[in-house]
Amino acid sequence: MSSSVALRLPSIDGLLRHPACAPLAERYGRDSLLTGLRQLLDELRPGVLSGQLAAVEIGPEVLAGRVGERLAQQQRSQVRRVFNLTGTVLHTNLGRALLPEEAIEAVQMAARYPLNLEFDLSSGKRGDRDDLIEGLIRELTGAEAVTVVNNNAAAVLLTLNSLGARKEGIISRGELIEIGGAFRIPDIMARAGVRLHEVGTTNRTHARDYQAAISPRSGLIMRVHASNYSIEGFTARVPTAELAELAHAHGLPLLEDLGSGSLLDLTRWGLPAEPTVRQALLDGADIVTFSGDKLLGGPQAGLIVGRKELIAKIKKNPLKRALRVDKLTLAALEAVLGLYRDPDRLAERLPSLRLLTRPQAEIHAQAVRLQPLLADVLGEVWQVSAVEVLGMIGSGSQPVARLPSAALCCRPQVSKRWRGRYLLNLEAALRGLPIPVLGRIGDDALWLDLRQLDDEPGWLAQLPQLQVDR
Ligand SMILES: *Cc1c(COP(=O)(O)O)cnc(C)c1O
Repeated sequence: MSSSVALRLPSIDGLLRHPACAPLAERYGRDSLLTGLRQLLDELRPGVLSGQLAAVEIGPEVLAGRVGERLAQQQRSQVRRVFNLTGTVLHTNLGRALLPEEAIEAVQMAARYPLNLEFDLSSGKRGDRDDLIEGLIRELTGAEAVTVVNNNAAAVLLTLNSLGARKEGIISRGELIEIGGAFRIPDIMARAGVRLHEVGTTNRTHARDYQAAISPRSGLIMRVHASNYSIEGFTARVPTAELAELAHAHGLPLLEDLGSGSLLDLTRWGLPAEPTVRQALLDGADIVTFSGDKLLGGPQAGLIVGRKELIAKIKKNPLKRALRVDKLTLAALEAVLGLYRDPDRLAERLPSLRLLTRPQAEIHAQAVRLQPLLADVLGEVWQVSAVEVLGMIGSGSQPVARLPSAALCCRPQVSKRWRGRYLLNLEAALRGLPIPVLGRIGDDALWLDLRQLDDEPGWLAQLPQLQVDR
């Protein structure tokens, strides 16, 4: 800089009065603007003193622009919408099931107004929040009674603690599973105060194994649906009906944790068979637990259904209060369950079922349509193709079943030693978009499974902003 006059930063007061800053004060508040300006000036001061910054870089308009960007960044919510193109539909890390419009409206109503959460409108007396959905769940499952908690892990914990504390819980070694996120059946049993009595072997457990374990110390028999893995080959498992008979002959309740479970037979939509809650109860399970946000397609919740006197015992447990479900969830759950009364229209109305049953040909046509557009944005280094792939239901539902789908497959046309870096850079760039796009890297390519690309215009609109580092 040739100027003989030393460069000086504008004063805070001057900046605050400057027209470029006025809209920022209006939008973010004067205090936030002040803090932002102070921080920025502090950061720039050394550069000004050492003469590294030019006058244009510290003009009021430039500074206002930079502060504005920062304030916008800070104001942006941490909870962000994303595009789930991972190929896993009920993705636990991405919030699992998407709610139908009916449930979204119910949540808004419950959020906006007071409601009869624990108030019986017919008698004018105090009510029970479970009563709001009990009728529907009984109708849909055939259960005698119902209680709902925060998630299925809570349902399992509460049920075990209510029915088996200080006693032994008998369970097959083939069902001592880990669901993920540190939810392991043996640990949950221990936390529930139930002593684990494991029987049989990993691959084979017989009725006589359960029989031999039953003693005066026994409190319950538990069955867990192996939802995230499968045991194949030389295997044996006691059918629920037979196990229920054995349990009842000894006055023990049989609990069945279905994990996802389903209210309807999914094979009618061409999906893999998942045990239904109704069938588990018909087979003689006394209590069945399952998730609200897996195949059911609703909000996060844990449903406990079964025999009336056992449900009454569960509801009396003080832990129930700690694990109870909130009003927004209940409102959403009721709306979702309501859709199940019309199974013929369920696949159009329930987003998770609609996405799970999207035909491969339709997804492939979408991939073919989008392929040239993505190829154009990515440039010559990337080979983009529309290919058929196999996706997953997710959330432990049907771990071995695959959903025929289609994807955009992006392969960097560079030597093998650079491929990994290119793929990670593309992945990061997609994640950096205003609505982050999440795919999956595998087999030297980045895959965007389009089964869940509902909002194609929204996805396309942000494509021009994609900038991949080399
Ligand atoms: C998913 C699952 C759970 C936990 O359910 P959340 O709703 O995630 O708490 C428990 N048991 C089984 C068998 C599961 O698949």
